[in-house]
Amino acid sequence: MNRIILHHTGGSYAVSNLDREHYHRIIDGSGEVHDGVHAIAANAPGRTLTTGTYAAHTRGLNTGSIGVSICAMASAEWGAVGRWAYPVRPEQVEALVAETAHLCGLYGIAVTRRSVLSHAEVEPTLGVWQRGKWDFDYTLFGGTASRDPVTVGDEFRAAVLACMVDLPAAQDHPSRPTLRQGETGHYVRDAQDALGITVDGAFGPITRAAVVAFQAQHELLPDGVIGPMTWAALL
Ligand SMILES: [Zn+2]
Repeated sequence: MNRIILHHTGGSYAVSNLDREHYHRIIDGSGEVHDGVHAIAANAPGRTLTTGTYAAHTRGLNTGSIGVSICAMASAEWGAVGRWAYPVRPEQVEALVAETAHLCGLYGIAVTRRSVLSHAEVEPTLGVWQRGKWDFDYTLFGGTASRDPVTVGDEFRAAVLACMVDLPAAQDHPSRPTLRQGETGHYVRDAQDALGITVDGAFGPITRAAVVAFQAQHELLPDGVIGPMTWAALL
């Protein structure tokens, strides 16, 4: 499989038959993960997609795509925060992060903007028109004022990577601290070494510029800060 696309169902907190038909994994209001009707293999690359035999979750992009959805956001209007009848719950976000991390490990899917993304990111990132779909809920992490789907998606991906660090398979890659301009030490030396620049252990403007360039090349948020996603791409 090539990618995971995250959705909300546009329904209540309960799993409906329609949800089971359209997604591979569905997360109910308590954060429990349910399997859909179609196996993930039903959307495998190379397979002919015949209506009713695969999970149809993303217009024009179902081949190679795993669909994971949160049961929430019935009749929700974009921008009407606080007036949604079924807003996404924290336990659902937690389950979504954990299930995505699990599936990435299982299928060897890298956590990048093109391979782990919300439905709302499909159009800006992959260029496949989605008729104004804006899932998932952009208030997921509460910490951002941004409603830009890619910015929200970056927060989600950082959470997925942090979750993968805790998985047994990742134990040989212990987590590294987030580094910013002004910091010094052996982690800075590691980063400079990986960036192929002069290794002096001091995170100055030249290191920052190299980080920004690296992030831009690797479709990461080019903020000059080495967080979990940039570390994962560097090492
Ligand atoms: Zn969707």
